[in-house]
Amino acid sequence: MAFDTKLMEILACPVCKGKLDYDKEAKELICHFDKLAFRIEKDIPVLLESEARDINASKTAEQVS
Ligand SMILES: [Zn+2]
Repeated sequence: MAFDTKLMEILACPVCKGKLDYDKEAKELICHFDKLAFRIEKDIPVLLESEARDINASKTAEQVS
């Protein structure tokens, strides 16, 4: 079973408490504000700042649209 995107409505970034975007290809939850990506393990998002991946790259600009 795929990650349930309905969860997106209740999930928030642990750093800024803002909304997260779901990156289907990378299977990560993205906070554009903090430029962090949170991975999803076995359909469970790992919303820990210490586990987040820094996405300060050009890729983020493309995902906004
Ligand atoms: Zn954030």
